[in-house]
Amino acid sequence: MSVETLKYISITVSIVCFLFSGILASLYFSKKRIYTKENSVYDALILSNVFCLLSEILFYFSGFAGNSLYIISFTEKLYFTFNCIWMYFHTIYMIVIAQEDNSKLNKINFKIKKSFVLLSILFIAFFIFVLPIKHSFEGNVLISSNGPSMIFMFMVSIILILLNVIIIVTKKKNIERTKFKPLITFVVLILIEMILSMAGFKLLLFTLPMTLVTFIMYHTIENPDIKLVEQLNIAKNQAEKANNAKTEFLSNMSHEIRTPLNAIDGFSQLILEEEDIKIIKDEARDIMMASQNLLEIVNGILDISKIEANKLEIVKVEYEPRKIFDELVKLTKARIGERPLELKVSIDKDLPDYLNGDYVRIKQIILNLLTNAVKYTKKGFIEFNVNSVKKDNICRLIVSVKDSGIGIKKEDLDRLFTKFERFEIEKNMTIEGTGLGLAITKKLVDLMGGKIVVDSVYGKGSTFTVGIDQRIVTKVKEAKIEPKDETKKMNIKGKKVLIVDDNLINLKVAARLLSTYKLETEEVASGFECLQKIELGQKYDLILMDDMMPKMSGVETFKKLQKMEGFNIPVIALTANAIAGMKENYLKEGFNDYISKPIDKKELERVLKKYLNTK
Ligand code: ADP
Repeated sequence: MSVETLKYISITVSIVCFLFSGILASLYFSKKRIYTKENSVYDALILSNVFCLLSEILFYFSGFAGNSLYIISFTEKLYFTFNCIWMYFHTIYMIVIAQEDNSKLNKINFKIKKSFVLLSILFIAFFIFVLPIKHSFEGNVLISSNGPSMIFMFMVSIILILLNVIIIVTKKKNIERTKFKPLITFVVLILIEMILSMAGFKLLLFTLPMTLVTFIMYHTIENPDIKLVEQLNIAKNQAEKANNAKTEFLSNMSHEIRTPLNAIDGFSQLILEEEDIKIIKDEARDIMMASQNLLEIVNGILDISKIEANKLEIVKVEYEPRKIFDELVKLTKARIGERPLELKVSIDKDLPDYLNGDYVRIKQIILNLLTNAVKYTKKGFIEFNVNSVKKDNICRLIVSVKDSGIGIKKEDLDRLFTKFERFEIEKNMTIEGTGLGLAITKKLVDLMGGKIVVDSVYGKGSTFTVGIDQRIVTKVKEAKIEPKDETKKMNIKGKKVLIVDDNLINLKVAARLLSTYKLETEEVASGFECLQKIELGQKYDLILMDDMMPKMSGVETFKKLQKMEGFNIPVIALTANAIAGMKENYLKEGFNDYISKPIDKKELERVLKKYLNTK
């Protein structure tokens, strides 16, 4: 076969490859796709393939004698440059897919990108315009090129091929199976190409394996549809997981809520049929405990809603830490009850008398850890240790709760503080819980700038340690004598309160609670009745107003009251609408204060003192 015929075959192959690559590139770029690092490198790879083929065709056409040597050299060097660019992007591609952690890559890329591009341009210019190239012709056809520029290009190609081989060998594990196919094809074809060209067979072109590899990559790795489907599948799995967690949470919640409700309902029925006052009191106590339990569940949900709305706030006040820890010990003892569990307590004797911080939340954190220890320990011990480290006016409270309970598996530790997560549900079927406690605990500790750590051996027990800094308050401890009769201290006897609520039971509960303070109460079941009473000139010292009432809501009633001439009675929102931000909303509407249902006696007292005390 003459050299000329070979040359024409080469040109035909290049043109076919060029057309094919052009179609592939336009298909690729016309599709919607998700941008990943891999994709962006492939963009460059597919484009460099097209340009490489184009420059190759130009070079073949210029490589006939008679053309200016300068043009031949320029097109040939351009062709080799695009060859190297393709190889370069192929190497970058390999680095990207072989990388376990792409964030490292981002940092490196960012720093070196600019200087590298500049350096490459200089190199290419040096190669194209400075390094000399020699040509030899057979007849009027260029058959080979050599000289310094050919040696330079050969060296660059060898380095890039070697880099590719090194990455394949060393990062084999990280490169997914599907991605291996084009890489192996690439190496095999390049080797065949090299052997053949060494044997003097010049027909096989470098761009042919390049085009083939780019094409295989399109199907096995970079096909945008495959990427899109992959991403959709990931999103679908995540959505399904979230949905399952929600369903599980709801069914768990339903069970959690039904348990105390069952006690409340059952004991209430028993009380109605019981004559013995001692038994009635016992059962009423059980009802109270069940309601407390129910309230804890609802509060947990509220806390999570507040956390998600970023509305959970830390309220710092002065408190006596020793009192808090003593209360926690008492509560834990009550929770242990008759169970074979020893509670070992050690509280630092050097604790400051007064600290400044959110003691309500601190109590919640520790109580949650102690309650968990009681829940997940059948027998053995629970150790409650409180230590303090003081520096300047800061006291670091270090609280640890250790138990000899069921322990937590190593693989579960990471998810311990994630909401709704409960472990070994089947085994712990009889243990009540929502999976919210530790998520809230962690968030509260974080909000206070503290730390919580867990150490657990599965089957042996767990230790939770919390460290929180609190400001020390220096003052002389007061010897306080709490007056027994709150009403005397409050001096509110005989004051008149109007309660507005459409729910008769709620009206009854509020009136009954207020009667313990020897207050006079009047109850109405709607906003209209409330307005009527005020219009008729009835005098009250305070109004407790429910919000969610049919026809006229509490807020609407309140707005109408405000418009009445001379109206100056304090109005308190008393509502079960207690999700995150509600208190702020009611205050913004103009209500003087807010109490959530179920009514906490302490909260009620606070409001009564504030608005009815005449002292
Ligand atoms: P729950 O309401 O289920 O107790 P938490 O968020 O408090 O929710 O705890 C999450 C999960 O962590 C629990 O369901 C339990 O599997 C595990 N866990 C928490 N504390 C302990 C402990 N002291 N010992 C063993 N497992 C625990």
